[in-house]
Amino acid sequence: MARPRTATKPHVCIVCGKQAKERCPPCWDAGVVTGFCSRDHQKLVWFGHRDVCGANANPCMPPPLHAQEIKWAEVSTPSPKQLKWSLDMLARPDFRKHSPDAARDCLFRVRAVVDETLISPEQVSVSHPSCILARWNAIFSQLGEDGDIQEDDLPHELYHHLQVLATLVYLGRKPVSHRPKAFKTEFVVDVVKRTLELLAPIHTPGESTKLFKALRTMVKSVVNLQGEIGRREDGMTGRVEVYQIGGR
Ligand SMILES: [Zn+2]
Ligand SMILES: [Zn+2]
Repeated sequence: MARPRTATKPHVCIVCGKQAKERCPPCWDAGVVTGFCSRDHQKLVWFGHRDVCGANANPCMPPPLHAQEIKWAEVSTPSPKQLKWSLDMLARPDFRKHSPDAARDCLFRVRAVVDETLISPEQVSVSHPSCILARWNAIFSQLGEDGDIQEDDLPHELYHHLQVLATLVYLGRKPVSHRPKAFKTEFVVDVVKRTLELLAPIHTPGESTKLFKALRTMVKSVVNLQGEIGRREDGMTGRVEVYQIGGR
């Protein structure tokens, strides 16, 4: 696959936004630049990034459902028919390769249902950043339906940013003593800002509040965001500030 051309903007760390010194090699080989300022930040989100790295990076495609997820999906679904259709499609050998967008929709649908129905502690082990991403995808679909963003044009880098955000939120939900040392709540805010920049070209002016509220909801278990989305000539600008550290 073609290697990415040099971007006009210097590459930034997908975690903290500082200048990137390292690139994830498997992503680079797949034609995607996933920059990191340091090994520390690469390690910090590897747990989630590995799901969409290398062969899964371009187009960004979350990993197949694992056996336990399929089991939960089969017993927990509120609309068995629709989910069964998705599971059948995903089970087809070449479906992911031939219809990546449809496969991603199916994956997101099944995972979101699985994640929503996880209630007891032993079930929580099934949840992971890709499950969080699946639920967020439902939020983005809703924004698309509402006309807030043009959902058909979601840039595929968006999923990489959201996967990092989901990983940070996953880590941030842990008690402070259990979080990795390199974790900082500011990273969550930073990824939100870069997500807003990415959404600027496909965002409907005047609908900023809904988009900001959606992002705020997505990260509220870790951080309370306050801010607003403005517009410049070259796109959307996010003034996002942390005013209270939340979390459990
Ligand atoms: Zn960094
Ligand atoms: Zn990678």
